[in-house]
Amino acid sequence: MAAKLVVGNWKMNGSVEKNRSLVSALLQDEATAGAVVCPPCVYLSQVRDLIAGSRLRLGAQNVSRYGDGAYTGDVSAQMLAEFGCRYVIVGHSERRALFGEFDADVAQKMVVAVAAGMTPIVCVGESLQQRQQGDAVAVVLAQLQAAKELAGVEVLQASVVAYEPVWAIGTGVAATLLDVAQMHGAIKTALREWGAGDLSLLYGGSVKPEGASELMALPGVDGVLVGGASLVAAQFVAICRAAM
Ligand code: PEP
Repeated sequence: MAAKLVVGNWKMNGSVEKNRSLVSALLQDEATAGAVVCPPCVYLSQVRDLIAGSRLRLGAQNVSRYGDGAYTGDVSAQMLAEFGCRYVIVGHSERRALFGEFDADVAQKMVVAVAAGMTPIVCVGESLQQRQQGDAVAVVLAQLQAAKELAGVEVLQASVVAYEPVWAIGTGVAATLLDVAQMHGAIKTALREWGAGDLSLLYGGSVKPEGASELMALPGVDGVLVGGASLVAAQFVAICRAAM
């Protein structure tokens, strides 16, 4: 069985001192080998230096859809790759909801990330209302289909997908094992039909150490994308242990 992937999304949290202490605690436990940390962009250089020589890996939380040029405030995929990022999160629901990103932006970001040698972590997920209306699977598959059609199947094959129900992100209410199993089953079936059956599928949304092993033991769950708990060394380490 392939190793499970654990990705920590620090969101807009951290400071030079907090990052130093968090990373130093993570490096003390072998369970974090292979895990990915995604600090805010300004700290990528600091965290790259802190994890140098270890098996902890670096990711970014966002990337410009454009190449280098007159795009004030953006950071290109080439720049992220130059700073050691192997992964980049794209299409996170916070970016879709708060920064107006649409499927076309997400697809373009996937394309530039892959072209720069990084693995995009493509987030998809339904709102509470969509789930209550019985549309969860259709919404998520439509987001993935858009990614496949706009970015191309080769780019999708080079990505990781994270199923993150919007109502579970940062709320403390994780999806049930049944919800996750059903959604991951539907996503894996679609990916296989599209010739992208080998890519890793993560679950994200209020993942905590409690229940992490049961979650990652589900068929079709290849790892987790962790927000809040990735800021607490003991919790992130415990989730990495559950992934072993
Ligand atoms: C996330 O930011 O992708 C996330 C899943 O956050 P949390 O674990 O805090 O719900």
